[in-house]
Amino acid sequence: MGILAHELSHGCGTNDATYFGRLARGGIGGYPRDYNGVRWYDIADTYQFWFDFGLYIPKVTPEPIEF
Ligand SMILES: [Zn+2]
Repeated sequence: MGILAHELSHGCGTNDATYFGRLARGGIGGYPRDYNGVRWYDIADTYQFWFDFGLYIPKVTPEPIEF
């Protein structure tokens, strides 16, 4: 289902800048963030991350909030 969230977010104009969700359990580097000049909310995998791990907003939530 996470992949579906990723693809649906393209309908809102997101980009494929990186792959946060797949790295998420591996450590801090896997959390949504700005990447290569693309804002975190324009990156499709941010929404995949939310679906898979919970709501996470960079610099706002200390860690994902599960739905
Ligand atoms: Zn994509």
